[in-house]
Amino acid sequence: TPTSLGHSVIPIVNKLQDIFAQLGSSSTIELPQVAVVGSQSSGKSSVLEALVGRDFLPRGSDICTRRPLVLQLLQTKRKADGSEEEYGEFLHLPKKKFFDFSEIRREIEAETEREAGGNKGVSDKQIRLKIYSPNVLDITLVDLPGITKVPVGSQPPDIEARIRTMILSYIKHPSCLILAVTPANADLANSDALQIAGTADPDGYRTIGVITKLDIMDRGTDARNFLLGKVIPLRLGYVGVVNRSQKDIMDNRSVKDALSSEESFFRRTPAYNGISDRCGIPQLAKKLNQILVQHIRTVLPALKSRISSALVTVAKEHASYGEITESKAGQGALLLNILTKYSEAFSSMVEGKNEAMSTS
Ligand code: GDP
Ligand code: MG
Repeated sequence: TPTSLGHSVIPIVNKLQDIFAQLGSSSTIELPQVAVVGSQSSGKSSVLEALVGRDFLPRGSDICTRRPLVLQLLQTKRKADGSEEEYGEFLHLPKKKFFDFSEIRREIEAETEREAGGNKGVSDKQIRLKIYSPNVLDITLVDLPGITKVPVGSQPPDIEARIRTMILSYIKHPSCLILAVTPANADLANSDALQIAGTADPDGYRTIGVITKLDIMDRGTDARNFLLGKVIPLRLGYVGVVNRSQKDIMDNRSVKDALSSEESFFRRTPAYNGISDRCGIPQLAKKLNQILVQHIRTVLPALKSRISSALVTVAKEHASYGEITESKAGQGALLLNILTKYSEAFSSMVEGKNEAMSTS
């Protein structure tokens, strides 16, 4: 499957989780959340869906995302017969498993209406959805309503300020990665996404620029200079993508089809020659994966010291019982040793395995 987000990070995280599990502790790495921000219809939901590789989010030319959707991906074990089971579960409908992803979309729409009404209302009350799959990394993605300027339907006059406050409440957290989504057919200097991301993350340490709709730019223009950071520089840079158009959505075009036509778009468009590392959903996934790996590398020392102190406690406990034999502490020391070696090998993994991080 083209599930690309986390592709290369999954084995690393799994290995660490195994180590922790053997120590009898479930405490493991907490990965940063990823939130999408931008103006309405810039393509935020489309980008998230493409990253997850499944169709399940309401998308469209009107306001679709009207409540924050907190999407928790949870990795499950593959079944013994090798088959895969992927399903969703909503917090508001506990115990109901959704195996049909289009049913998940319908439930998001229905639940949006229940809280925010049918008339374009926006609510800051979250919808929480868990997706269980053997192909995902344990990570939380947040789909947010887009910034709009003019109230429509039953929206209050201060709709813009309300949505901005809602978005900031998510992206202000220093561990939140921000995907700032701007359509290529708008001026980057007018980007709501970059503006609001800049408020939360002024130094740009956790903002990735995503330029959507490269396929529908005005004839004779292209986004090369945007992607190269020549218009508005961004520390972590930009990735340009082509998502499905409204017609593709109406025709039920699959994620897989969309990825291959995105690839051929970049291949046949001369403006994007030589900058393929900034083009396409797989490259965006790769960039995110690298940031996640970097994050794991940063938190490893703290994890190690947590294990060490857990070991000291266990050792003391054993000493007080007067036990000497093959103890949990002994196993623990061994595991700590493994983890130490592992984290030493980590740098080379990070630098050397960049190729393995690409998807497809
Ligand atoms: P959101 O409001 O930011 O979540 O945007 P959506 O993901 O709902 O997309 C809004 C509309 O733009 C939908 O009709 C999408 O099909 C369309 N769209 C999004 N990205 C692209 C793209 O890269 N190219 C084209 N042609 N259409 C896109
Ligand atoms: Mg949306």
